[in-house]
Order: sequence, then structure tokens, then C-alpha cells
Amino acid sequence: MPSAAGDPKSRPARVGVLGLQGDFAEHLRTLTRLGAEAIDVRRPEQLDEIDALIIPGGESTTIGKLAERYAFIPKLRERVAAGMPVWGTCAGAIFLAKDVPGHPHPLAAVMDITVERNAFGRQIDSFEADIDVRGMGGGPFHAVFIRAPKIRATGRDVDVLATLPDGAVVAVREGALLATSFHPELTSDDRFHRYFLAMGRR
Ligand code: GLN
Repeated sequence: MPSAAGDPKSRPARVGVLGLQGDFAEHLRTLTRLGAEAIDVRRPEQLDEIDALIIPGGESTTIGKLAERYAFIPKLRERVAAGMPVWGTCAGAIFLAKDVPGHPHPLAAVMDITVERNAFGRQIDSFEADIDVRGMGGGPFHAVFIRAPKIRATGRDVDVLATLPDGAVVAVREGALLATSFHPELTSDDRFHRYFLAMGRR
């Protein structure tokens, strides 16, 4: 994906955020601040006009239902197969996973991970933790978890980028696909968004 900085002839990256439900506005703001052209994606045809896509946090059942109703899933699978970078945060990570035991609604099912919803239990529905992220300079990342999922199993081509002290996997990458259990868009630390923008250029 062309960079916003760098070659003056290149246009800014057009990065979509699936705006069906959840905290898409925070992602759009961060992307805009980083110089990307941030697109609120509401129609499947828009998937053809973007260089990369973020699926925000929210409620994965609702996102799944709406994505099916508005016929997003076939087009999204097509774009993923063509190598478009896609990042799912929290409910977005659930939406990307191929295996979500007991999930009642359709999901994109494009990433070779098994994800357990609401896996941190009721007593710690929400918490924050400083985590080390593989390949990310600048010290630990302050991660916000809200009724977060755990990534329980990963396929052969999936790299684990971050775990909690107890070993729970909370950030993974599989080629052009990125999934995080937490919400980088809710903090002012934009290193994950920059990492994602760079994925399209690598
Ligand atoms: N618990 C939500 C779900 O299962 C995800 C929460 C979030 O995105 N913050 O969809």
C-alpha cells in the first residue's frame, strides 16, 4: 500500500474501517491522524476501493449478522484471498477467526486461529496490561481489554506477536492478517496502527 509519507507522488493509503457496529470512529480518527485516507465502510462495493481494512471491536454476533445481511462476507473473503491486509480488534478478531466454538452467527472465517469469546471471565471483564510486542520498538504497549477474547490455538503459518504473563495469546499475524484481543484505538499509542499501515508495504 502506498505510504502517506515517503514518495511525494504516491497517494495516501486508503484504509477502510468496517462501520457496521462497534468503535469504528476511534480507528478512523487514529488513521486520519497518521495521514491515511480513512474510509467508513458501509457497503460491500467499498471493499474494492480500499488498500486495507480494520474490523473494529464491538459485538461479534451483531457484526456477523450485519455483515451477512449486507452481503459483505463473500467480497471480504475475495479481497483477503487477493492479499489485502485486514486487522481485527477484539470482536473484529473473533470475526476473522476460522474457529470460534459456539458462535451463533456467520463470521468471515479467514484466519487460521481458534478464538474463545469473553475468555477472561466476568470478574475481569475489563482490564489493562503492558505487553511486549514482537518486532515493535519503543517499549511495552499499554493494552486495553474489554470483554476480550483469547486466541486459544494458532495454525502453522500464524505468528504470535504478544502474550500475557500467563501465556494467553493476545496478538497474532498470519501473512497480511492481524488480530488483537485488545483495543489499540482506545489509547493514544498509535504504534499498532503504524505497524498495520506498514504491513501493506512489506
Ligand atoms: N465480547 C465481545 C464479543 O464477543 C467483544 C468485545 C469487544 O470487542 N470489546 O463480540
